[in-house]
Amino acid sequence: MLDVTSTAYSPAELLHRFQARTSESPITHVEHVPAREGRPAPWPSWASPEVVAALNAHGIARPWEHQATAASLAAEGIHVVVATGTASGKSLAYQLPVLSRLLGDERATALYLSPTKALAADQLRAVAKLGLDGVRPATYDGDTSREEREWIRQHSRLVLTNPDMLHHALLPGHARWGSFLRRLSYVVIDECHAYRGVFGSHVAHVLRRLRRLATRYGGSPTFVLASATSGDPADAASRLTGLPVTAVTADASPRGATTFALWEPPLLPADPPDENLPEVRRSALSETADLLADAVVAGTRTLAFIRSRRGAEVVATMTRRSLDEAVPGLGDRVAAYRAGYLKEDRRQIERALLSGDLLGLASTNALELGVDLVGLDAVLICGYPGTRASLWQQAGRAGRAGGEALAVLIARDDPLDTYLVHHPSALFGRPVEVTVLDPANPYVLGPQLCCAASEAPLRADDLELFGGEAARAAVDGLTASGALRKRPSGWYWTHPGRPDVDLRGAGGAPVSVVESATGRLLGTVDQSSSHFMLHTGAVYLHQGVTHLVDELDLEDAVALVRRADPDWSTHARDVTDVSVLGVRSHVDAGPVGLYLGDVEVTGQVVSYQRRRLGSGEVIDTKPLDLPVRELRTVAVWFTVSPRALEAAGVEPPDVPGALHAAEHAAIGLLPLMATCDRWDIGGLSTANHVDTEAPTVFVYDGHPGGAGFAERAYATAAAWLAATREAIAACGCESGCPSCVQSPKCGNGNNPLHKPGAVRVLDTVLAALGAATAG
Ligand SMILES: [Zn+2]
Ligand SMILES: [Zn+2]
Repeated sequence: MLDVTSTAYSPAELLHRFQARTSESPITHVEHVPAREGRPAPWPSWASPEVVAALNAHGIARPWEHQATAASLAAEGIHVVVATGTASGKSLAYQLPVLSRLLGDERATALYLSPTKALAADQLRAVAKLGLDGVRPATYDGDTSREEREWIRQHSRLVLTNPDMLHHALLPGHARWGSFLRRLSYVVIDECHAYRGVFGSHVAHVLRRLRRLATRYGGSPTFVLASATSGDPADAASRLTGLPVTAVTADASPRGATTFALWEPPLLPADPPDENLPEVRRSALSETADLLADAVVAGTRTLAFIRSRRGAEVVATMTRRSLDEAVPGLGDRVAAYRAGYLKEDRRQIERALLSGDLLGLASTNALELGVDLVGLDAVLICGYPGTRASLWQQAGRAGRAGGEALAVLIARDDPLDTYLVHHPSALFGRPVEVTVLDPANPYVLGPQLCCAASEAPLRADDLELFGGEAARAAVDGLTASGALRKRPSGWYWTHPGRPDVDLRGAGGAPVSVVESATGRLLGTVDQSSSHFMLHTGAVYLHQGVTHLVDELDLEDAVALVRRADPDWSTHARDVTDVSVLGVRSHVDAGPVGLYLGDVEVTGQVVSYQRRRLGSGEVIDTKPLDLPVRELRTVAVWFTVSPRALEAAGVEPPDVPGALHAAEHAAIGLLPLMATCDRWDIGGLSTANHVDTEAPTVFVYDGHPGGAGFAERAYATAAAWLAATREAIAACGCESGCPSCVQSPKCGNGNNPLHKPGAVRVLDTVLAALGAATAG
C-alpha cells in the first residue's frame, strides 16, 4: 500500500519524477525564480497606535516597504494603486490608512470593493479579528437580509461589497446611503486587474456614478487600488477610476524560490506509421492528469489550472481513474473545481485541500478560488492562461514557507503555447500586459448614462466625468431615441423602473443545467457558451459524470440533461458573416491595407458532429435549430491585392486556405499583445469580401461594442503579425497542425488551410507595412 503523507520532495525531485515517465524530454526550459529577501519599513508616524498594536498582536511586526509607501500616499489623500505579486500583503497597504482614519475620525466611513463575494468575506474576517472598536465592518451582498441591510446602512463604517451590488442596490438607493456617502473617506478597489474588457468598462462607469453621488452629498473619497502585477498599473487604474493615480510597484515582501518548468507534451507515435498523417502531440489534458496523479502519489498538495470547465472535469476524472487503478480509493483525494458549482460545494473543496484531505485539485480560474489557498507544493498550469499576469497569479499559489515550490506550464497543441515554450524570453523577464478596458465603448456608455440619470438627473457638467465628447454624443443619441428626456435642468430618466443593465455583459441570464430525473440544479453556463456547450444532443460533463442534453430551452434559460455514458464526443459547428459598418482608421500600404473599424458579425451554431472517443472518427453530423446571434463590434482587418498575392507565389486556388491559416494563427498570437484570449476574439477570412472587394482577413472583438482588443491589435499590428509569421514558419509540421494554423474553435472544421501560403501572405503584408511606415 502506498503511503501518502506530507511531501519531502524538492521541486527538482518532483520534476525528475515527472520526467521519468517518458523517454522523451518534454522539458523545454527550466527557470529558477530566486528567493527574495524582504525589506521591512518602520510604521509611518501618522498610523493609529491602536491599529499598529492590533496588527502587532496578529503577528505583523513591521510593514514591508511597498505597504508603508502606498499607505502613506493614501493617508495624504493621493489616489494610489499598489501592484505587486500574489501574497505580497497588499491588504495592509489599504487597511493601515483606512482603519487609522476610521479610528481617528469617528464619523468617517469607507467602502471596500472586490470582484468576488469570497474575497470580501475573507477581508471581513481579517478586519474583524483585529477587534477595533467602532469600525463595525460588514459585508453587503446578495445574501444580506433586509434587516441586516438596514443595520449596515445606519451603523457600519466599513462596508465590504462588490461592483454588482453597488450598481444594483447601493447607487440606486443612494438616498438611504446619504450620510454614509457624505462621510465617505476611502474607496478600496481590491484585485482591480479583474476589471478588464467589457466588464471593466462597465465597472469604470459604476465608479464614476459613485464619485458623482458622493460629491453631491459632500464626500470626496481617496481611492486605494490593489492589483496583481500588471503593465502600467497607474494608467489602468486611472482609466478605471477616471482619476490621476500613483502606482507603487516595488515588491518588498520576501518570497520563496520557485522552479518554473516549461513542458511540451511528446508526439504520439503514429500507429501504424504513416507519413501522410500529421504529427499530433499528446493532449495537454492527458499530460496534466498524469502529472497530477504522480504528484498525488508523491504526497504533494498540487493544484492544476485548466482553461475550460470541461477540461477541469476531464482532468479530475482521468486522474482519479489512474490513481484508483494504482491504489483503490486513492482517487478520492482528487476533485474538480470550477465556476458554476454552488458556493457551499466550492468552499468545502477548498477546505479539504487546505487540510490535506484532498491532495489534488483540477480547477478553472484562479480568481474563483478563495484567497486562503496559497502555500501549495506545486502548481500545474495546463495551457497558457492567456496573459503573463494570470500565469504569475496562478504560479503564485505555489510557495511553501521556507522551501521551494514547483510550477509547470504544460503547452497545449496551439500556436501561442508552442511559441511560448520555445521562446521562454517571451514569458520570463518581461513586464506583464497592460489591462485593457474602454469606458468609451458606446454599448457600455449609453446604458451607464441611463443608470446615472435614473439615480439623479444628468447635468451638463456631469458629462466631463463620463468621458466628455463621447458622453455628450451618447446623451444626444439617448435623447433622440427617447431613452432620456431633456429639461432645462438636465437629462432625466422618466421610464418606470430602472434601466436593465448587466455589468457582466454576458448577454442574458445564465442557462441553468438541470438533471431532468431529479430536478437537481447542477450548475450554470453563460448564454453565449450555451449554444456551443448545451445544444440539444451535446455531451456535457459535471464533476466527471457524463450527461447528455435532452433539450436546450433558451426562452426559460434551462438545459435539461440526463446521465449517460456515450462513446462519442460532440463538436458544435457555426457559420459567421462580417459586414463593415465604418472605418475608424487605416493605413494605406500600396497593395496592402490595414484597417480598424466597426463591423456587424452574425453567427449561428448550425450543426454538431459526433466523434468516436479515442479515434476521433466522425460518426455523423446533425443539424441544429438555434437562433442567429448578432454582434456589433470593433474589428481589425487587412486586405492584400490579388496581384500581390500572385507575385508572392500564392496561386489563386490556394488563396482561401492561405488567408484562413493566417487568420487562425493571428488570432492565436493576439494574446501576446492584449489581455484577451483566443475565445474573446473571432475571425473571418475570405478571398473576396463584398465590402472590401479584396482578399481579406478580419479579427474582431467577441464583445458588443468591442473591449479594446482589436484596437490593441491595430496599434501593434507589425509586431503582432511578425510573431504570427514566425510561429507558422518555425513549426516543424508539413502542412499545418494545431501548434500553428489549426484552430480548436474553427467553425469550418479547419478546412481549407494552406500553411506555406499563410507565410507568404504575412510576408507580403509585413513588407508593405514596413515600407509604408518607413516612407
Ligand atoms: Zn504546425
Ligand atoms: Zn477557421
